[in-house]
Amino acid sequence: MHRAIRPAAIASAALLLLAATTLSVPAPAHAAAPQVRTQAPGYYRMMLGQFEVTALSDGTATIPLDKLLTRTSPTQVERLLGDAYLQPKTETSVNAFLINTGSQLLLVDTGAGRLFGPTVAGRLVKSLRAAGYQPEDIDVVLLTHIHGDHSCGLTVDGQAVFPNAVVRVDRHDHDFWLNEQNKERVDASHHHGFAEAAAAFAPYIAKGRVQPFEPGAELLPGIRALATHGHTPGHTFYEVQSQGQRLLLWGDLIHAKDVQFPQPGVTIRFDVDDARAAQQRQQALRTAAREGTLIGAAHISFPGLGRVRPAGKGYLWVPVNYSLDGLKE
Ligand SMILES: [Zn+2]
Repeated sequence: MHRAIRPAAIASAALLLLAATTLSVPAPAHAAAPQVRTQAPGYYRMMLGQFEVTALSDGTATIPLDKLLTRTSPTQVERLLGDAYLQPKTETSVNAFLINTGSQLLLVDTGAGRLFGPTVAGRLVKSLRAAGYQPEDIDVVLLTHIHGDHSCGLTVDGQAVFPNAVVRVDRHDHDFWLNEQNKERVDASHHHGFAEAAAAFAPYIAKGRVQPFEPGAELLPGIRALATHGHTPGHTFYEVQSQGQRLLLWGDLIHAKDVQFPQPGVTIRFDVDDARAAQQRQQALRTAAREGTLIGAAHISFPGLGRVRPAGKGYLWVPVNYSLDGLKE
């Protein structure tokens, strides 16, 4: 049975439908995109003559610079960091550098490995893979010095991370850190470094893959060690040259750019010989500013590539211009 429907009711319903169609906001088709909260793969690539150079991020570590920096005061540190919009507890980059010479693959420093636990730094291998290489591809590891955030990435869980690599380091760092008897020569705050060094080097020593070098040695065509002893007994810069272009890998010359560029005399508790470390910094900054040298630094904000300018009584860091054209054939 059909109920009788009055024409007036049909007209009212049609109007309501029209109104609803015209005025209502369509329901969203899907929920908001979830936030991703990961960073881009940690590598930055450039050409240096015929060499391909890739800055690799090991991640960051947040450190209390007001408590670690010496030959200054916490107030001074806070002021200088404040000028850079940073807090005294500062997130600090840990950078390494990969050099493909065309015939050999070299890694300068290895990051912290598991030294700081599973979530702080320790990302070097991930960055290396993202950059298109595998740990097995590394022919030579060059260490700027033996300190956990530069050398502990050699070995994880007792296994060599770079199983085909020869490890090269200045003889003075090798002989110092790999001999526990030297503990008595330094402050207790450095003692943990001896056990860390032993663990990091063990699998490479077992296979005869550690080759210390003399200061100033030419290690490979275009790669030379420059002795900058002070921060550690064998701290070394690596000078990389190809087709007239030059890059200087500074290791730990700088720990706190925003403090040590304006005041190069400021030192850090990690320095084994802080007076000598400060001298090396003064000299290296002066030379880099005069010559406009391209620098790669371990603890300047990733990728840690840039140049130095004089500024007042100190210096200024000028990061490299982001470049894609530089990679073209
Ligand atoms: Zn260091």
